[in-house]
Amino acid sequence: MKIDGFDLLLASDGTFKLDGGAMFGIVPKPVWEKYFRADERNKITLGTNVLVIKSGKNTALVDLGMGDKFDKKLEGIYEIDRTKTLLQDLSEKDIEREAVTHIFITHGHLDHTGWATTYSHDKIVPTFPNAKYYMQEDTLKEIREPNQKTKPNYNYLNFENLDDHIELLNGDEEVFPGVELIKSGGHTKGHQVVTLRVGNKTFIYFGDLIPTSAHIKPAYVMAYDLYPMDTFSKKKEILEKAFEGEWTLFFEHDPATPSAQLVDIESYTLKKVTV
Ligand SMILES: [Zn+2]
Repeated sequence: MKIDGFDLLLASDGTFKLDGGAMFGIVPKPVWEKYFRADERNKITLGTNVLVIKSGKNTALVDLGMGDKFDKKLEGIYEIDRTKTLLQDLSEKDIEREAVTHIFITHGHLDHTGWATTYSHDKIVPTFPNAKYYMQEDTLKEIREPNQKTKPNYNYLNFENLDDHIELLNGDEEVFPGVELIKSGGHTKGHQVVTLRVGNKTFIYFGDLIPTSAHIKPAYVMAYDLYPMDTFSKKKEILEKAFEGEWTLFFEHDPATPSAQLVDIESYTLKKVTV
């Protein structure tokens, strides 16, 4: 979608699978199964929708899919399925790696940071050599100081040799005109969402604050969330504004409905929209 000097599009790094129960926390299976069909091992298929924001000299990517640094064990767990990688998809959309100027990392989990780095002649290097990678200070802390609960959610190779490219934020910040990173917490302490304001239109990319359209109700919080009550209250607060302002909402992990608009705040009814 082209709008007032901005070009917005979605790219993808394919799909992967996670346990349906963990994805929906306290929501009973008969309810979530209306949205996601579980396989024989109770896993559901999730997308890796990457938002691309182009404006003048700036090309920003929001989150980075699963990447290429998986061993056999992780591959078995996540069952990554793709006909093309994020890099191939970007290339088909005429976005070369060297042209990317900004990477916005919602949080450090491995399904959001896969292509932060890649292999080049057996060495790990930043995938986007000219980009600054923006994340919250708390996110870097969570990556560097994991505990037994949080450690399995990270792949440390995604951050190897990346230090010189990382820009740390502490709270909300407008990175370039119209584009703001907003620290939301909830899913992780350092989790941030991305908003784009163009004219009277607002777009928001939720990361794991609202991973799919089926998680739109504030109480539908993932079991993965470290601070579920913060997720609940932040969702409520943002969705009230999103309804009033008729924002376009992006869902990172929704393979069928990557973008939608909230048309009823009582029932949390969504209308699918395309960008
Ligand atoms: Zn996550």
